[in-house]
Amino acid sequence: MAKRQPLVAGNWKMHGSRAENATLVNGLLDLLQPGKRAEILVCPPFPYLLETGRLLRDGGVALGAQSVCAEVQGAFTGEVSAAMLRDVGCTYVLVGHSERRHVFGESDELVARKFVAAQSQKIVPVLCVGETLDEREAGRTLDVVSRQIDAVMTVTGVKSLARAVIAYEPVWAIGTGRTASGDQAQEVHAMIRAKIAALDATIGGSVRILYGGSVKASNARELFAMPDIDGGLVGGASLKADEFARICAGAG
Ligand code: PEP
Repeated sequence: MAKRQPLVAGNWKMHGSRAENATLVNGLLDLLQPGKRAEILVCPPFPYLLETGRLLRDGGVALGAQSVCAEVQGAFTGEVSAAMLRDVGCTYVLVGHSERRHVFGESDELVARKFVAAQSQKIVPVLCVGETLDEREAGRTLDVVSRQIDAVMTVTGVKSLARAVIAYEPVWAIGTGRTASGDQAQEVHAMIRAKIAALDATIGGSVRILYGGSVKASNARELFAMPDIDGGLVGGASLKADEFARICAGAG
């Protein structure tokens, strides 16, 4: 089986200020243990990307954005293109985060176009997928997650996943304090991997699949110990340097 380097990504959502970000990044760089195996990523809001990139210096933490426009450039007021993200140093971008899907109405098709836009600029998309509580209770988890992945793969082909990361984030666990158990998450991760492996065994074995949904220092180790969980996408707990550093250590 392929060795997958764990990845822990912090999604700052719409939080922070220049002063708070400096405290957070400097605290994080002080606390991260050198030589640990996990790759670390932070995703600040757009206005803070450039400055956060400078604060990160060569500290071994990657910079990502929380969303990207599907269009290349032009009259799209309020949007930010993949080329702009690349220009300010982003190497990753979240696409299809549940808040984009459910609060801002982004469709599977739009998410697929954003995925393509990111890759066109050599930015690694972190494709977020996950079911709502109603969908889970109706026994539709695997259908929903499959549909969300298929929407991308039918446009881009399975090979595109060699340059992407998947984040399984059950909507009922995001920002709620309710976490999927290790076994619940592992079941979905294994299904995602098997689905991809059925199309391409190498990519199925090598694609990183993160878990997201109320990950904290206290539950990170149990989740990251699961065979198909390759790290986490962390919201609230990524805003505290000590908590996030402990989560990162749990993946190392
Ligand atoms: C997220 O924003 O992707 C997330 C998982 O948030 P939280 O960790 O706060 O649940």
